[in-house]
Amino acid sequence: MRQITEPAAMQTEAAAILRAGKKHGFVPTMGNLHAGHRTLIDQARADGEIVTVSIFVNPTQFNDGADFENYPRTLAADLQLCATAGVDYVFTPTAAEIYAPDRDILVIPDKLANPLCGLSRGRGHFIGVCTVVAKLFNLVRPDRVYFGQKDAQQALIIQRMISDLNFPVKMSLLPTVREADGLALSSRNRLLTKKERQIAPQLYAALQTGAQMLAAGESRPHAVIEKMMSRLSAPEIEIDYLNIVDLATLTDLEEITGDALIAAAIKLGDVRLIDNVIAGRANSALKRGAIE
Ligand code: AMP
Repeated sequence: MRQITEPAAMQTEAAAILRAGKKHGFVPTMGNLHAGHRTLIDQARADGEIVTVSIFVNPTQFNDGADFENYPRTLAADLQLCATAGVDYVFTPTAAEIYAPDRDILVIPDKLANPLCGLSRGRGHFIGVCTVVAKLFNLVRPDRVYFGQKDAQQALIIQRMISDLNFPVKMSLLPTVREADGLALSSRNRLLTKKERQIAPQLYAALQTGAQMLAAGESRPHAVIEKMMSRLSAPEIEIDYLNIVDLATLTDLEEITGDALIAAAIKLGDVRLIDNVIAGRANSALKRGAIE
């Protein structure tokens, strides 16, 4: 395994991989790697010949300075996990190396970035995500990238960026990895107090309640949302958003007629947690756990 910090060195290496005609899988991350990241790496390892993981806490996608400062950084353990998982390259640039002081060009997503996290974190969030992922694609030049369903809106926006801007990259989207009590693995989980950690699984429990209602044929979003909100009534929970949206456009559904994305974000103390499920009638044609 090789660790590369210089963008130019990464690009040189990527060009050599491309020339050699090797299948190159890429897993972009912000580090503090856990079993969720590991499934993406394992899939890349299974699919391809070369696997690159990037670890970069991207300052431009944080709307909250304290959130950026507090984001867990555990490089030594991350490198260990990557080595164990058989990763070939770990790309760990600094912000100064990624962003020139006189930079002037951004990648701006449009409608898909308006609702959900785009609304609650502000327009800059997905501009930061798209811009850095576009840059990483040009530095790593993978033929396949791996994203997690936990960040479904992000995956959908990147999928659209790939097709709208003609990046020669395919995307694999993998299901959310959870703790035994249902809490989606997240780097932010370690910032929860003991009490908050005990309450946190209520988020997935509420999503499951919603999914069950859809499976049973409930078509009224407000009825589902009301029931889910009653499951999130602990005084420590602040609901950021809770929406039932179209899988392709992420716009709110007025009536649930097929599959839908139930997406939620809550705050527990200072920690913001997001999660989602794809739900619908039991006989739906759409595969569970994947946006295709
Ligand atoms: P992050 O380091 O949080 O930016 O995440 C990097 C990638 O890992 C993104 O594609 C995430 O969707 C994915 N990821 C994060 N948490 C999980 C999880 N619990 N299960 C599956 N994938 C995840």
